[in-house]
Amino acid sequence: MAEFKSDIQIARAANKKPIMEIGNKLGIPTEHLLPYGHDKAKVSAEFIKSVQGNKDGKLILVTAINPTPAGEGKTTTTVGLGDGLNRIGKKAMVCIREASLGPNFGIKGGAAGGGYAQVVPMEDMNLHFTGDFHAITTAHNLLSALIDNHIYWGNELGIDTRRVAWRRVMDMNDRALRQIVASLGGVANGYPREAGFDITVASEVMAILCLATDLKDLEKRLGDIIVAYRRDKSPVFARDLKADGAMAVLLKDAIQPNLVQTLENNPAFVHGGPFANIAHGCNSVVATTTALKLADYVVTEAGFGADLGAEKFFDIKCRKAGLQPAAAVIVATVRALKMNGGVKKDDLGKENVDAVIKGCPNLGRHIENVKQFGVPAVVAINHFGTDTDAEIQAVKDYVKQQGADAILCRHWADGSAGIEELAHKIVEIAESGQSQFAPLYPDDMKLFDKIDTIVKRIYRGSEAVADKSVRDQLHQWEQQGYGNLPVCMAKTQYSFSTDPNLRGAPTGHVVPVREVRLSAGAGFVVAICGEIMTMPGLPKTPASERIFLNEEGFIEGLF
Ligand code: ADP
Ligand code: MG
Repeated sequence: MAEFKSDIQIARAANKKPIMEIGNKLGIPTEHLLPYGHDKAKVSAEFIKSVQGNKDGKLILVTAINPTPAGEGKTTTTVGLGDGLNRIGKKAMVCIREASLGPNFGIKGGAAGGGYAQVVPMEDMNLHFTGDFHAITTAHNLLSALIDNHIYWGNELGIDTRRVAWRRVMDMNDRALRQIVASLGGVANGYPREAGFDITVASEVMAILCLATDLKDLEKRLGDIIVAYRRDKSPVFARDLKADGAMAVLLKDAIQPNLVQTLENNPAFVHGGPFANIAHGCNSVVATTTALKLADYVVTEAGFGADLGAEKFFDIKCRKAGLQPAAAVIVATVRALKMNGGVKKDDLGKENVDAVIKGCPNLGRHIENVKQFGVPAVVAINHFGTDTDAEIQAVKDYVKQQGADAILCRHWADGSAGIEELAHKIVEIAESGQSQFAPLYPDDMKLFDKIDTIVKRIYRGSEAVADKSVRDQLHQWEQQGYGNLPVCMAKTQYSFSTDPNLRGAPTGHVVPVREVRLSAGAGFVVAICGEIMTMPGLPKTPASERIFLNEEGFIEGLF
């Protein structure tokens, strides 16, 4: 067998086409593609408006079982399936998230897929790309600056400086900034107060950009952001600081989707990248809805396992954007099933059919859960070199018993040729019109009952529990008119419970809601169940120590 090439080696060898050509293939005229170099372009707002009358294509969600820490290949499978659908003659495109820059310097890794299923240019995509995250960071920090400036100049709005909810952001893993004291150094620097930084992808501006339907909606949502509370606990909005207009100006290009291509020259939108814990973890609504107007099949990914990612994709993104997914692909790997079956990380490479079988109920639960939303599911076994035939057969047999199909996919090693069978299956399901998508709970259910419904029906816990203070807070938001919002669950991705070590398919666990946060601009209530990190740190030996430019000027050590 030939030596394995690294993701970056494969990406560098890609035979890229000029981005205009890729856009033209989708029917986007050159004048509506705003180029960022030769291989990236934004799509104009005018063009997007002009295609609103088109019929929508079929939307396919790629989600996964509870993963191992390395990720199970959702992005890789999303890209592979997009190429696979094109290969069998369908007009398909993929929609994925942009990558956060900071984490690349902590642990090696990329977000553009892997092997022979990648989008390119992957280096750009994992670094500065088209500057969207810089724009989001800047818009966010403009609002931060306006808050302290308002307080400095007399605080007419009566902001309680102990209750400023709006923090600052940067796209870097920097634990030193998690909790800071701002405005030190004397009268000219304002009133000292406790503040802190989150990573840019955790910004509510990111979530807003990803849920907004257009620039107007974006501006309205920015105005709705709650920045602080007064002494009487009434909210102060970004609109009260007249921040919304200027923030929208900073985001006017960032809201336009970025067009790139796969290794097989098929179109891909890479746009937006909200956290999958305190936000909903999907690419932008603008990118997805535009793609549906341009292609017959749109394959998209939701972050984390299906208990979090698919639930939020359905209950937040699809509900709010009126999307009707036609099918879902649940990515499973033999190694993650083994891990769910109790095998330690270091032993995942050894054949262990019993452990695979023991881990399968985790997959079974995700299949059932996706079906609860009325969406037909098919399992993609993302093939790894260490998988054995017996292990793969065990997964197929199990899934058959659950009334679904598991298809072995080799897109990582073989590109589109390795995923044809799944592509045919997806077409068959999508064309059959079986999907009868409906969100899990109605808008008018009480906020705590929404959380409890997710806990019982998706996590299969016994109940959600919360202190009186949390319940009172939810009640207050209901009275303020926020009761119709969906909830955004923030918990570990490794388990159906709040204990990352409780693998498989646990039942009867209690899910404690520690804290709730209102993202009034994004339009959801975050329920925090467990420790949630909004500003990551760097490991003892950060990846950056091995990153450099080689003699030819190419990046080494990043991927
Ligand atoms: P996710 O989107 O689920 O987090 P990714 O698609 O980003 O996962 O894949 C995570 C990592 O695993 C990537 O580095 C990718 O190259 C690698 N990977 C994915 N599928 C395979 C496979 N079949 N064999 C080997 N490595 C893979
Ligand atoms: Mg991914």
